[in-house]
Amino acid sequence: MTLLQSLQMRQAKTCAEVQAKLKQLKNRPPKNLDAEIHRLHDLYFKKIDCLDCANCCKTLSPGVKDVDISRLARHLKIRPVQLVEQYFELDSDGDYVFRTSPCPFLLPDNYCSVYEARPIACREYPHTDRRRQEQLLTLSAKNCKTCPVVCAIFSDLKV
Ligand code: SF4
Ligand code: SF4
Repeated sequence: MTLLQSLQMRQAKTCAEVQAKLKQLKNRPPKNLDAEIHRLHDLYFKKIDCLDCANCCKTLSPGVKDVDISRLARHLKIRPVQLVEQYFELDSDGDYVFRTSPCPFLLPDNYCSVYEARPIACREYPHTDRRRQEQLLTLSAKNCKTCPVVCAIFSDLKV
């Protein structure tokens, strides 16, 4: 069994428990939260190849901003209005989200066909290498359901 498969199995068994742990963390985040999460992020992502998974691209839409639309339109050599009409709709936060899931730019081998021009939210996913993790705990609890690495990071976290 690969590490990714074992993390996926662990996620299926522990996701609810890890989400409850994250709720408690929100009340009293430890001082070394960023350092510990970043250490575990590096540990897992050194060993995991996201191309074997792509669950985020298959099941979630990133929140896409105007700047992302402009970059993508330039990359695809179409007008921003055409891009929006073809691929996007607005969500309740006023962000553009993909009309369809999996992402229309995901290729069958899990590569991203617009990789160099992908939205910022795609570049940052799953956000476990960002600073101020105490402000991202609600998002991470949500991402536990999608990303086996996020679930493992928060499961391993000693607090
Ligand atoms: S869900 Fe997590 S492990 Fe899977 S491709 Fe996305 S970031 Fe990588
Ligand atoms: S644009 Fe690329 S990285 Fe972003 S969700 Fe689609 S396939 Fe994944």
